[in-house]
Amino acid sequence: MYRVEIDRDACDGIFACLVHDERFVEDDAGLATVDPDAAGVVSVDRTDEQVVATFDGDTDAADMAARACPPGAITVQEVSE
Ligand code: SF4
Repeated sequence: MYRVEIDRDACDGIFACLVHDERFVEDDAGLATVDPDAAGVVSVDRTDEQVVATFDGDTDAADMAARACPPGAITVQEVSE
């Protein structure tokens, strides 16, 4: 299990993340969020400042999305279950 955070202040809506992990989607404000119905997504909490999501499985796709994000708005961190 791992935790993905998107800093919505840093996100600039380039959407490089979507190319690498299809669980990242565009929200109604034109910023990145996580699809709560996507495979492997356990939970998604969204505030004005950030999106915090919990994913099951390995971190490969989310890590690639984080590396592709120009402003470094995505953080991926393993969490104990
Ligand atoms: S790549 Fe980064 S800046 Fe671009 S939409 Fe995704 S989270 Fe936001």
